[in-house]
Amino acid sequence: MDKFTEFKNIVTDPYAYCRKYKEETGKKIVGYTCSYTPEEIIYAAGALPFRLFGTDEGIHRADMHLQSYCCSLVRGILEEGLSGRLDFLDGAVFPHTCDSIQRLSDIWRLNVTPQFHIDLVLPVKLNTTSARQYLIDILEKFKKDLERALGVKITDATLSDAIKTYNQIRALMMQLYAIRAQRPEIMSGRDFHSIIKAAMIMDRQLLLKKLGEIVAQMQNAPGSKIPPGTKKLVLTGSICSHPDIYDIIENAQGVVVWDDLCTGSRYFEGVLDEKAPPLEAIAQRYLDRAICPAKHVGLTDRGESLVQMVRKHQADGVVFLLLKFCDPHAFDYPYIKEMLDSENIPCMLLDMEEQLPAGGQLQTRFETFIQIL
Ligand code: SF4
Ligand code: SF4
Repeated sequence: MDKFTEFKNIVTDPYAYCRKYKEETGKKIVGYTCSYTPEEIIYAAGALPFRLFGTDEGIHRADMHLQSYCCSLVRGILEEGLSGRLDFLDGAVFPHTCDSIQRLSDIWRLNVTPQFHIDLVLPVKLNTTSARQYLIDILEKFKKDLERALGVKITDATLSDAIKTYNQIRALMMQLYAIRAQRPEIMSGRDFHSIIKAAMIMDRQLLLKKLGEIVAQMQNAPGSKIPPGTKKLVLTGSICSHPDIYDIIENAQGVVVWDDLCTGSRYFEGVLDEKAPPLEAIAQRYLDRAICPAKHVGLTDRGESLVQMVRKHQADGVVFLLLKFCDPHAFDYPYIKEMLDSENIPCMLLDMEEQLPAGGQLQTRFETFIQIL
């Protein structure tokens, strides 16, 4: 059994993992749809936060409720909810981010019952004078909603413990990112992807322990440098649940050294102030964190952060992963592309659905892009 087997097994069948986890621990499981969910509060309530990733195995039931021009992530999540495969969930949380998630929330509330359902109406503009206090008030309301739904009391002490756990997890993940950016050969992109995805599913104490072991092993692993001719890439977009992309890039003599994904570095970024009142610390992280295009702090903020990311990791190019019909990211793309062009950073746009385009075709596209680099 290699050191990544446990992560791979969880990612291969997350529902089986959750059912077993529930049976063994008796704990509640709360599904969530987006990285703007304050997991620390769910964790402090004694429940397991479980990121919903949808399905890549065909979407049928969801099409009765959502237009086919909604992104496949939202359609896939609804499909899973309607199919009954998520019956282990005790409830679901929907942060108000993009329009599609907001509509998913309404449809879920009416059709995927009797689990509890909580909307989290976060501010859109994060740089106004009132945003911080409003965000703290919303988190306070979320805490109360969750206490009611789960029949528990969330204290400042349990919140502080949760914050410490998440700070440790995020710090270890960032260390792993940094090690891999320097020595990508020590772990394949596919294995790295499994760890990232499992981190949003599995028991967080177990995750902490396993991450600690892996980081220690990686730090001590005999390292080689990136082979000459290998091109370093940054992935950007919303989510990436296709481990095949990493294989395809590596087969084309490329390597992903960093990402700007909501199921990637945007999820792990940011340390919470352990001395501040817990809800204020959680709010502050959202205000400081790299934003996604469903939020607003400035007109060029995302593009500037991406250019900085490319420079910092000395990447040769950017791959923009765009889920079809994802309006927030599609609206972002032209100005980000313009900004990358003006900095002479090559960029490739990959339109994706729940399934990737045929392997050979994609391989050729990546080979061509990497040759250009
Ligand atoms: S891109 Fe933004 S709104 Fe969409 S799922 Fe990710 S964090 Fe949420
Ligand atoms: S931000 Fe885009 S990918 Fe994420 S849920 Fe909304 S439409 Fe889908």
